[in-house]
Amino acid sequence: LQSPWVLLQQAKRCTASLIPSYYEAVIRGEQEVPEYFNFASDVVDKWSQEEKDGKRSHNPAFWWVNSQNKEVKWSFEELAFLSRKAANVLSGPCGLQRGDRIMAVLPRIPEWWLLILACIRTGVIFIPGTSQLTAKDISYRMEASRAKCIVVTDTAAVAVDSILSECKFLKTKLIVSDRGRDGWLNFSDLFQAASGDHDCVKTRSEESMLIYFTSGSTGSPKMVEHSHSSYGIGFTSSGRHWMNLSPSAVFWNTSDPGWVKTVWSNLFAPWIHGSCAFVHHLPQFEPTVILNTLVKYPITTFCTAPTAYRMLVQHNASSYKFRNLKHCVTGGEPLNPEVFQQWKSQTGLDLHEGYGQTETVTICANAKGMKIKPGSMGKASSPYDVQIVDEHGNIQPPGKEGDVAIRIKPKQPFCLFSKYIDDPEKTAATIRGNFYITGDRAVKDEEGYFWFVGRADDVINSSGYRIGPFEVESALMEHPAVVESAVVSSPDPIRGEVVKAFIILSPAFLSRDPEDLIRELQDHVKKSTAPYKYPRKIEFVQELPKTAAGKIQRNILRKREWGKVKHPYDL
Ligand code: ATP
Ligand code: MG
Repeated sequence: LQSPWVLLQQAKRCTASLIPSYYEAVIRGEQEVPEYFNFASDVVDKWSQEEKDGKRSHNPAFWWVNSQNKEVKWSFEELAFLSRKAANVLSGPCGLQRGDRIMAVLPRIPEWWLLILACIRTGVIFIPGTSQLTAKDISYRMEASRAKCIVVTDTAAVAVDSILSECKFLKTKLIVSDRGRDGWLNFSDLFQAASGDHDCVKTRSEESMLIYFTSGSTGSPKMVEHSHSSYGIGFTSSGRHWMNLSPSAVFWNTSDPGWVKTVWSNLFAPWIHGSCAFVHHLPQFEPTVILNTLVKYPITTFCTAPTAYRMLVQHNASSYKFRNLKHCVTGGEPLNPEVFQQWKSQTGLDLHEGYGQTETVTICANAKGMKIKPGSMGKASSPYDVQIVDEHGNIQPPGKEGDVAIRIKPKQPFCLFSKYIDDPEKTAATIRGNFYITGDRAVKDEEGYFWFVGRADDVINSSGYRIGPFEVESALMEHPAVVESAVVSSPDPIRGEVVKAFIILSPAFLSRDPEDLIRELQDHVKKSTAPYKYPRKIEFVQELPKTAAGKIQRNILRKREWGKVKHPYDL
């Protein structure tokens, strides 16, 4: 069987735009998933050839900036060349072979992009971790993944050295730093010396490419395995329709490289479309830095988490003139309709929400041009057949709440994870009848729009009523006193459990009498949604527990509420 590109050339249809077109046909099921696929040779090197042949515009492939006005801009040709050098570092001095695993705990630095491509070129399996990981987190991940190599910058190197005795499988330590460190190979030195010639391995589509630890919003992070084709090809359709990507697009997504959203939106989706992946180093999330970056650079599509949009609308985005921004995207958590409205009124732009998991590609999205219903995650995204099912795996009619599920029979979509590594039980537990069960609850309406209710274990059961936290949080957000909130269950002697809201107040309301304000907020929720959903308990807090990806950890608040009394979901 030929590589897809050879097939295209044979068909004498070799124009740049056919790179994504071919893979969109794969997503639509009009073409077979190629037997062999490698993102470095089949996508990056092909765009590089397009550039050499003068068929691609001057839009960079990669554009990195930091707050000190330092910039790195690479074309696909440069990216291809530099990632070959990085590949030679891995297979040469690092001694890594196809199938070995490398863990990368790096901030948003250009080397991260070279290293992941180098892994794809050599068949080494890449395991990203966020630079906020502690020594304990790293130790857990190194042990679980049996990674032979770790690559870090100075800060994490200290953490790694403190847990060396626990890392039984670790053979090579690689540091990205302008200084040397005892016992560590220096990436920059080796990279300078490495050759730019490298033969990319020929990988079968289903061969393992990436391992991701989930965000850990609900428990210990799980190791999710993805193949070369699942993430490599799986974003072609949502990249075009949800993220609005094309060869002239400049796409900035702010997520941390430890989170799956970075490969979705800073790598596979933009590069398969020949777009520019824009990255800001962003050591901290500073709303004014974000807004000023959108003013300064010609970013056409912007993506950040709902929690970040909640912060941005507090900074009156209408006073900033964005240079080229046309399309805004979000996902990872539910987006409250109130935040959608505020962003729209401040910038004139719609927020296109999408929904997915580490285990999947985009499951649902609000595509460009589609009617947006604020508060909805949009419609099923190709190639997934997404349904709401009951506890027996039966499809539920519109309007009925159930589990969000992806059809996997008779044929499992190629762009679904292969398994939770070393955990056949957890893997098997995701399958019910003909479906993969996401663990999220939602309702589908008559027009095929999905409405998120909550993670299955965040749904509150009060006196027999099932209450999704998202609806209560969204109702609270409509009140000017509320900057952010998290709604969880709390024990109650009569009702079993009741709704409790943890709320961060807007500064203007801090001086208000708390009892009065609690009553006012409760009355507001009773009017805005079905009255039985109102939070019987409210606590004002200064911050909410969040994962490294910025997601609210309701399970931590729930455990705190239940104290010694175990909630059934936490048993
Ligand atoms: P863990 O599985 O370890 O608990 P996690 O589920 O948070 O962590 P991710 O895979 O990063 O790890 O997150 C996927 C989850 O995020 C989804 O299952 C869903 O609960 C939530 N999510 C993602 N996008 C949306 C969205 N648009 N609306 C609502 N929830 C979303
Ligand atoms: Mg999950």
